Amino acid sequence: TSFADLGLASALIKALEEVGYEYPTPIQEQAIPVALEGRDLIASANTGTGKTAAFVLPALHRMATTPRPLSAEGLQTFGPRLLVLTPTRELATQVMEAVRAYSKYSRVHTLAILGGMPYRQQLEMLRRRVDLVVATPGRLIDHLERGRLDLSTVEMLVLDEADRMLDMGFLEPVEMIANACPANRQTLLFTATVDKAMVRLAGNLLKNPQRIDV
Ligand code: AMP
Repeated sequence: TSFADLGLASALIKALEEVGYEYPTPIQEQAIPVALEGRDLIASANTGTGKTAAFVLPALHRMATTPRPLSAEGLQTFGPRLLVLTPTRELATQVMEAVRAYSKYSRVHTLAILGGMPYRQQLEMLRRRVDLVVATPGRLIDHLERGRLDLSTVEMLVLDEADRMLDMGFLEPVEMIANACPANRQTLLFTATVDKAMVRLAGNLLKNPQRIDV
């Protein structure tokens, strides 16, 4: 299987050629078609398996191939279409780097909302059009609770390293953030381990998910 066989947009294929990926990894081969169909998924995959591309590529594909939906009032929207939650700033930075590489020939407006960054700068950025937000739960919930962030435009929510987010005590913020997104969003959950707490979280946030193990 090649990336083109998976049905990804040509702008993505071109960028992947430049970063030197020849073939999809097993998690990419399994997750990308499911994600492109619009289904929810729960994937158990460790770091190093290529899991980042498994959610970034379908998200970028959607932005390249479907126009921004209008608001309920029929107006142009500006809010994020994709929201990625990660446990740490370091991981968020890695996701952003992957997005930058794979979107070289796409037009996407990205924003990182991370703890430790100046609020004022983030507020300024939140007023502009944004397609893709990568965030740590703590800082995102701050903005949400102050009414500075509208997640009603989110089409796809990704929980990256969800087990680490639970270990760090982010269950409540993660559920609050997910519930601030539209109910008909697509949700992709990536985790190294699946225990009872994870099954419960998936039961609350995912709809009829495809389970993938690599
Ligand atoms: P991840 O598991 O997402 O942290 O990715 C681990 C490493 O694998 C990263 O350095 C990626 O750039 C690299 N990678 C991801 N997908 C592929 C691929 N299909 N072919 C070669 N390298 C890849």
